[in-house]
Amino acid sequence: MGHPVLRARARPIEPAQIGSPRIQQLIDDMFETMQEYQGVGLAAPQVHLSLRVFVAGFAPNGDDDEDEESGRGVPRMALINPEITPIGAELVEDWEGCLSIPDIRGRVPRSREILVKAYDRRGKRIEVKAGGFTARVIQHETDHLDGVLFLDRMKSFQTLTFLDEFGRYWSGPDSEPVKVE
Ligand SMILES: [Zn+2]
Repeated sequence: MGHPVLRARARPIEPAQIGSPRIQQLIDDMFETMQEYQGVGLAAPQVHLSLRVFVAGFAPNGDDDEDEESGRGVPRMALINPEITPIGAELVEDWEGCLSIPDIRGRVPRSREILVKAYDRRGKRIEVKAGGFTARVIQHETDHLDGVLFLDRMKSFQTLTFLDEFGRYWSGPDSEPVKVE
């Protein structure tokens, strides 16, 4: 946080460039970085590249592509030039963190369900519905492409919490571990 690229609107990637070695390598590197830091998602501005691409994926039980509604699993995805439309007006509040804002957690309202239009890493135009935690992660990462951080989305800073205190007071035995995004 504080690097200007995190506050800039990132540039779209030309669809014809998606298959290029540069973009393919970038996506591979971003998946690797996300896993190294145990994140659920990572957007290009977080590695100081102002491009509209993010990666995400999280398998809480070691399963791939766990159903998004059944838990906090997030299917593995690399989305390019994503556009989000909320489905309905319902908002849900939950904890978020961010690799660019280390060791801080806060509760953020997000649309419960969204429609996402994007390109996948093969350059194919896709349109998917997402709900629950997956919808939250996609909204968080797409915000990064517009220079928006989760702090900007909080209704108040009353729930802003250090990771130590989060572990002590707010992640009870019933809660899933909250991972950084
Ligand atoms: Zn983030």
